[in-house]
Amino acid sequence: MKEMMGNEELQVWVEEISITSFGVPFLHRAMFNGRLTTTGGRYFLKGHNIEINPHQLDNYGNEEVEKIIKHELCHYHLHLRGKGWRHRDPEFKQLLQQVGGSRFCQALPGEKARKPQPYRYKLTCSQCGMEYLRKRKVDPKRFQCGKCRGSLRLTATISP
Ligand SMILES: [Zn+2]
Ligand SMILES: [Zn+2]
Repeated sequence: MKEMMGNEELQVWVEEISITSFGVPFLHRAMFNGRLTTTGGRYFLKGHNIEINPHQLDNYGNEEVEKIIKHELCHYHLHLRGKGWRHRDPEFKQLLQQVGGSRFCQALPGEKARKPQPYRYKLTCSQCGMEYLRKRKVDPKRFQCGKCRGSLRLTATISP
C-alpha cells in the first residue's frame, strides 16, 4: 500500500534534493496542489514557492516526482541568482541536464490524448471568396488574403 505524502514530507524532500543536487538550500515553501492538471509542478516568480501536482506521485511514483522537483528547483535557483530561468534559456537547459531534472513539466496520462481543437472560425476573402479556417478568434483587419490580398471577413463556423 502506498503511503500518502503530506506537505511537510514534501517540504523536507525538496530541501534535501536542493542540498544534494544543487548544493544550495531551498528557503521557501513546497506544497502539493491537487488542482494542477496539465503540469507536474510550477514555480512562482512572486513568493518563490513551488507547487507539485500530487497526481504525478500516484501515476508515476517517487522517481518521476523527484525529476519534477529538480525541474522546478532549476527555475528557483536560477531565478533567485538572476540567471536565465526560462525553459528556452541555455543556463536553464544546462542546469536541468546537470541535475537530471524532468525535461518538461510533464503532462499527465490522458492529457496528451486530448482532442485537437475544431476550427471554429472562418476568414473569407471578400474579393475572391478564398476561405481560411482558424481555431481561435482573430482580428480580420490584421490579415489579408494570401491569394489576392483582398480584405477578409470573420465568421463563426460552429455555434458555441
Ligand atoms: Zn518549468
Ligand atoms: Zn482573395
